[in-house]
Formats: sequence, structure tokens, C-alpha cells
Amino acid sequence: MDLGIKGKTAIVCAASKGLGRGCAEALAQAGVDLVINARSIGPLEQAAVELARHGVSVTPVAADITTNEGRAAVLAANPAPDILVNNAGGPPPGMWSDWEREDFIKALDANMLAPIAMMKATLPAMMERGWGRVVNITSQSVKSPIAVLGLSNSARAGLTGYVAGTARQVAGAGVTINNLLPGIHATDRAISLDQGVMAAQGITMEQAQAQRAATIPAGRYGTPDEFGAMCAFLCSKHAGFIVGQNILLDGGAVNATL
Ligand code: NAP
Repeated sequence: MDLGIKGKTAIVCAASKGLGRGCAEALAQAGVDLVINARSIGPLEQAAVELARHGVSVTPVAADITTNEGRAAVLAANPAPDILVNNAGGPPPGMWSDWEREDFIKALDANMLAPIAMMKATLPAMMERGWGRVVNITSQSVKSPIAVLGLSNSARAGLTGYVAGTARQVAGAGVTINNLLPGIHATDRAISLDQGVMAAQGITMEQAQAQRAATIPAGRYGTPDEFGAMCAFLCSKHAGFIVGQNILLDGGAVNATL
């Protein structure tokens, strides 16, 4: 399928690895010129070289997207992208009784306020042009809370509420905003959560992964490629009528009718 976005430009935040990288890969395959971001320069530059093999221009910006300075650096590379994919690292696991104000502020900065700031900065130009796509990478925790990820449950719920209201205010200008909710995907983040299970239960990595995979009806972790393909579709010319949705990519893990 021709996604109809060849020649458009995108910012993909937190994109040197994992799900952000999967999104960047699929957009590059569709012919989209990219600004990609992550904090560590080495893997980011490596990703830029690999993505450029699709024949698109790729500008890496090493910066922390959760800071004002980081976002300014990313936006300086492309102040008016056609497409914005918001992403950042997830908060650490713990117990509901562990977290103090500072922990919540960090989670809010990364998983709610950074994507909101990026949308505020880029939506006006999209609306003026009459076309734009925003995809926020959130989590299945928005639909079904994950006990050890209370910081994620909380911060991402805030972003979800903002998107629900905002998406309907910009849709008339040809701009869509949607959220992609990953369940467990095979990325570094999943490995670090597997390690948490391993340590907590005194089991091997294989046992921890088998235990977590058994919670997924599909019987396996998702892949960044599968995730990226959905992201690119939401950014395509075909997805202009999909507005303010929360789309689960979880192999059926959230046991719900709707
Ligand atoms: P990942 O494999 O650990 O990759 C994270 C990427 O984001 C890396 O490129 C990392 O590079 C970059 N990054 C992290 N913090 C950043 C920051 N402050 N500023 C800029 N770049 C940053 O993680 P992932 O699995 O792709 O997860 C992506 C998001 O989806 C996270 O919020 C995660 O919580 C959420 N999620 C993931 C899963 C899953 O199973 N994988 C499930 C549900 C939700 P640097 O470290 O160099 O910055």
C-alpha cells in the first residue's frame, strides 16, 4: 500500500532504539525525511546511518526530550514537521507506596508534559498547512493498570486526557492526533522489566520471559517492526478519519470487549 507520505517530514522522539526506532524505520520506508532524537549520540548516529539507507534525509539530534533545551534543539532541526511521533523512556517500576512528589514530576515531565510541549510547538504550522499527523507512544497501562508501573499509569492517563480533548479541536484543520498503546514488545525496555521479574522471583531470564509471554494471548512479545507499521499507517494519507483514538498493540493482553 502506498502510504502517500513520500516527501513529508517527521520528528520522531526517542528513536535510536525500540519502538521509536520501529516508527522511524517504517516512516523512512514510506519516504519520509526524518529528525530523530535520543540522548546517547553513538546509537543515535548509528540509527541515522541505517535509516538513511531508505533514501531519505535523516538528521540526528542528541538531546533529552524531557527538557526545554532538549526540545528546543530537536525543534531547531525542523520547527514545522508534517508528522510528530512523541516518545520518551518509561518510568522505573516500584510499589504504590514508594513514590514521592519528585518521582511523579519526573514521570509527568517524560510521559505527559514533554509530548504536550511538542504538540503545542508543532500543531499550529500543521493546522495552517491543513495537514498533520501526531502519534503518541503511550502504554497498555492506560487501558489496564500495570501494578508495578504506577508512575506510568498516572502520567500517561494525563496525556491521554489532553489528547482526547485536543484531537477534536484540531481535526477540522486536517490534523489527527492518536495514541498507540504498546503491550510487551521485544525492546531494551522489555529486557529491563524482565530482569525485574527475574530478580523479584529468583528465576532465570528465560523463565521470566516465558512467564510474561504467557500473559499475552498471542503467546509472544510484539516487535518494533509491527509497531512501526501501525504508526506509519496512522501517519498516512489513509488515516485522516482516525481521530483521538487509543489503539492497543498488545497481542490481546488487555482482556476487554472494547
Ligand atoms: P527502549 O527500547 O528502552 O528505547 C528507548 C529509546 O528512547 C532509546 O532510543 C533511548 O535512547 C530513547 N530515550 C529514552 N529516554 C529519552 C529521553 N529522555 N530523551 C530522548 N530520548 C530518550 O524503550 P521502548 O521499549 O522502545 O519503549 C518506548 C516507550 O514505550 C517507553 O515510554 C516505554 O515505557 C513504553 N512502553 C514500552 C513497552 C515495551 O514492552 N517495550 C510496553 C509499554 C510501554 P537514549 O537512552 O540514548 O536516550
